[in-house]
Amino acid sequence: MGWQSRIEAALTEQHRTAAYRRRVPLSGGNQRQLVHEGQTCLNFSGNDYLGLSRHPAVVAAWQRGAAEHGVGSGGSGHVTGYSEVHQRFEQRLADWQGYPRALLFISGFAANQALLAALLQPEDRVLADRLSHASLLEAALHAPCSLRRFAHNDAAALSRLLAKPVSGETLVVTEGVFSMDGDAAPLKALAADAQAHRAWLLVDDAHGIGVVGEQGAGSCRAQGVRPDLLVLTFGKAFGVSGAAVLCDDATAEFLLQRARHLIYSTAMPAAQVCALDAALTALIEGDALRDRLQQHIRRFREGVAGLPLQLAASATAIQPLIVGENQAALDLAAGLRARGIWASAIRPPTVPPGSARLRLTLTAAHQPGDIDTLLEALHAACG
Ligand code: PMP
Repeated sequence: MGWQSRIEAALTEQHRTAAYRRRVPLSGGNQRQLVHEGQTCLNFSGNDYLGLSRHPAVVAAWQRGAAEHGVGSGGSGHVTGYSEVHQRFEQRLADWQGYPRALLFISGFAANQALLAALLQPEDRVLADRLSHASLLEAALHAPCSLRRFAHNDAAALSRLLAKPVSGETLVVTEGVFSMDGDAAPLKALAADAQAHRAWLLVDDAHGIGVVGEQGAGSCRAQGVRPDLLVLTFGKAFGVSGAAVLCDDATAEFLLQRARHLIYSTAMPAAQVCALDAALTALIEGDALRDRLQQHIRRFREGVAGLPLQLAASATAIQPLIVGENQAALDLAAGLRARGIWASAIRPPTVPPGSARLRLTLTAAHQPGDIDTLLEALHAACG
């Protein structure tokens, strides 16, 4: 077929199914507002749930860190890229979450890939919620072991799978708050099941940390669960980027031997760690930000009732409107865009077929009037 024709055929197929993805260059701060081709829009698509990406203390910490440590880490953490700044922040994260150890990764995607690749052997199995993030499912697919997905948030379905024998180890995988639906996993039931079968539980709380639980300690603390492996990412409520895996001592040491994304990759710059440290302080002290976000969520959910759209059962910053067909989701996004609202249409394979949606996200950086503007635009676009 040849490389060129293979690539062209794939692109044609993306167009045919209204699944073609584009990046658009934005300006204007990309927080509460953003600017696209001269048009200022209210941003309802970001993951900066607490508005920390522009928090003065976080920005200042990054600047000070850059002045002191430079802008690059200069190497893998196994060579010269790991500093006392990294070590102190890892320990602070571990203490905060009640784990012996935390290991920093450059991204959540890398953390999940590294974790599953390092841990799983051919005789093992992964049992994953079927709506788990691509970074988890893809890592499980590439791992040498078997993968079974269980029905979304269905602890009974997990129990049935756990009851089947396996010669190796079992890893149960789920998220604290689901990235495309905003709903919470029944962590207590999943953890009890996993423990009863001597399986390990991995919870990726990318979207719960900072938003859910007292002092933003996340979904696990809120539900009184301590998974064997906890993945936190810093590109959402922390307002920065990067990730951490929280685990016991031996697992951390094992990952330092086997996690290729750590060993063969340049470490996070120390200046970024300084920003994360300031973000963690702001997040822990951020009850006022969480209250404000909750008020926005209530305002939005009350206002959206009556629209001919399916509102997901979400109490979090992620408030998707399920539209169904790809083109309908693109049309609604375009209708909102014309009214100054930036809302991304999310289509399969990111979400299941027939459930294309607007993944609306609210943030503490919004003002109450912004939510009203969004609601007016939605009513107009659907009317
Ligand atoms: N896990 C989940 C649940 C996510 O939603 C995402 C990204 N949105 C990731 C992991 C990947 O994290 P990162 O963006 O830091 O690579």
